[in-house]
Amino acid sequence: QAGAEEVPADARARAAELARVLDEHAYRYYVLAAPTVSDAEYDVLYRELVALEERYPALRTPDSPTQKVTETPSELFEPVTHLERLLSLDNAFDEDEFQAWAARATKETSVAAWLCELKIDGLAVDLVYEDGVLVRAATRGDGRVGEDITANIRTLRSVPARLRGPNVPALLEVRGEVFFPVAAFVALNESLVADGKKPYANPRNTAAGSLRQKDPQVTASRGLAMYVHGLGARRGFDPPSQSAAYEALAELGLPISPRYRVVGDVDAVLAYIREWGEHRHDVEHEIDGVVVKVDDLATQGRLGATSKAPRWAIAYKYPPEEVTTRLKSIEVNV
Ligand code: NAD
Repeated sequence: QAGAEEVPADARARAAELARVLDEHAYRYYVLAAPTVSDAEYDVLYRELVALEERYPALRTPDSPTQKVTETPSELFEPVTHLERLLSLDNAFDEDEFQAWAARATKETSVAAWLCELKIDGLAVDLVYEDGVLVRAATRGDGRVGEDITANIRTLRSVPARLRGPNVPALLEVRGEVFFPVAAFVALNESLVADGKKPYANPRNTAAGSLRQKDPQVTASRGLAMYVHGLGARRGFDPPSQSAAYEALAELGLPISPRYRVVGDVDAVLAYIREWGEHRHDVEHEIDGVVVKVDDLATQGRLGATSKAPRWAIAYKYPPEEVTTRLKSIEVNV
């Protein structure tokens, strides 16, 4: 490994340029909800930076896009500090990368059950329930501080204002994905076209734009939905595993995707990944991959997290559906 003094000037300049371009794309994607490159193009640039930092670790500074949750809060909404950090996910782009991650995760601890679920192409939202009442909803932001979108989230039919049942916890922070159901997106575009207006380009960015409206009535009119897929701070809620948590959350009335599966070994995980790779368009929302998690929460705790992502979960990203050869010649000027 090369020391700081050995980093060639061209590698340093390229890393700085990639960081600048990635930050710019992240701003357009998260804040403006109007990206100018595809996710696959973004991922190619991101991976080039990861590779440069692996070759020259001195380039891996704490403010690098590879080391932080990049979403920057806008100034449209009040800032909210999450009770627990909301992280991103590390990625695997093929089965070898997935197997390498699984081997790392099981190096020092055995994993008896893996939870496989769809990676919903939406936007991350944090919900806080106190004594069963929804008191706050926020965007992910930089993982520590997000934007207060409580009024907008209250308009989503799938998000309960109050939890149900006899076992309501004193405090429950959950995370999930807000998405534009494909059918609702198609209907919106049809009505826009019928009115002689321009249709929207894709459900994820339209969902982001619809959620971050100053007027919650606009959000309400769009038919957004949410699935919960993660836990934050909690008191009076102590499930042993991620899947047990999902069952308990569903009983509390929270929306849980019906498509998750708990399996016992890596081959079964790969079968799930292949199966949904073939059926990625047969779902009510867009997906960009599969998320694989260690099911046992104590093992999750032992594996811990980096500054950006948990070590107990990975996003397996499906190849983009556009032609990939074009990506080799990406211009990074923005
Ligand atoms: P990510 O989208 O790769 O993965 C992390 C997110 O996945 C989590 O925060 C969570 O909200 C979400 N998620 C969806 N389903 C989930 C599930 N079942 N369980 C757990 N989490 C689930 O990472 P990111 O940091 O949010 O964003 C980076 C990605 O966003 C890039 O790889 C790229 O695809 C896209 N992006 C695109 C542009 C662009 O200009 N096109 C810019 C920035 C980012």
